[in-house]
Amino acid sequence: MDLGIAGKWALVCGASKGLGYGCALALVREGVNVVINARNAQALEDAAVRLGAEASAAGAVVIAVAADITTPAGREAVLAAPGGPGRDFDIVVTNAGGPPTGDFRDWDRDAWIKAVDANMLTPIELIRATVDGMAARGFGRIVNITSSAVKAPIDILGLSNGARSGLTGFVAGASRSPIAARGVTINNLLPGKFDTDRLASTVAAAASKAGKGVDDVRRAQQAQIPAGRYGTAQEFGAICAFLCSVHAGYMTGQNILADGGAYPGTF
Ligand code: NAP
Repeated sequence: MDLGIAGKWALVCGASKGLGYGCALALVREGVNVVINARNAQALEDAAVRLGAEASAAGAVVIAVAADITTPAGREAVLAAPGGPGRDFDIVVTNAGGPPTGDFRDWDRDAWIKAVDANMLTPIELIRATVDGMAARGFGRIVNITSSAVKAPIDILGLSNGARSGLTGFVAGASRSPIAARGVTINNLLPGKFDTDRLASTVAAAASKAGKGVDDVRRAQQAQIPAGRYGTAQEFGAICAFLCSVHAGYMTGQNILADGGAYPGTF
């Protein structure tokens, strides 16, 4: 299927590895020009080289902007990248590292502010900076990488459960504002368990809490997923690219779960 977005400009945050990289890969394969972002400049540059090979085959370019997306200066840097400034992005995939795991009794106000900044206010700021330009041009796609924890909270991920629920509520309203009639969609993509470095760190935390080995925890977790396995970043990227496509113009304000069937509810 031709996704109809070749030549568009996308910003993909948190894209040197994991789910963000998977989204960037799927988009460049569709001929989308992609600005990728992460903090570690070397890892980001390595990712840009790998993506660049795919991009040139599809007639697209990849630009790397190393910055902390959770800071105003970081957002300014990515929004000023070619394809910008800001208002020229057609597609924005918001993403940043998830907050640490732990016990809610240990999280003080600073821990909460940091989580809310990274996983709620940063996506909102990126939406605010780009959405009106998209609406003026009659096409825009925003995909926020959130978490299945929005639908089925995980006890040790309280910071994530809370901050991402705030973003989800905001998106439910903003996506249905007048921008919806001007070709702009905003959706949240909710990963269950995908085999990335982030998953490795949450598995390590769960293993240490339970006094078990990491391999035992991985096996047990995968056995509880109806699909019988973790997801891959490539699978996640393909869903993201579809949401960014011309074909997904009638889907907005949705929370799309990709979890191998792990969420047990009917709705
Ligand atoms: P990952 O493999 O750890 O990759 C995170 C990416 O984001 C890296 O490129 C990282 O690079 C970048 N990043 C982190 N903090 C950043 C910041 N402040 N500014 C810019 N870039 C930043 O994580 P992942 O598994 O892809 O997860 C992506 C998101 O999905 C996270 O929020 C995670 O909590 C959520 N999630 C993941 C899963 C899963 O199973 N994997 C499940 C539910 C939710 P630098 O460190 O160099 O910045």
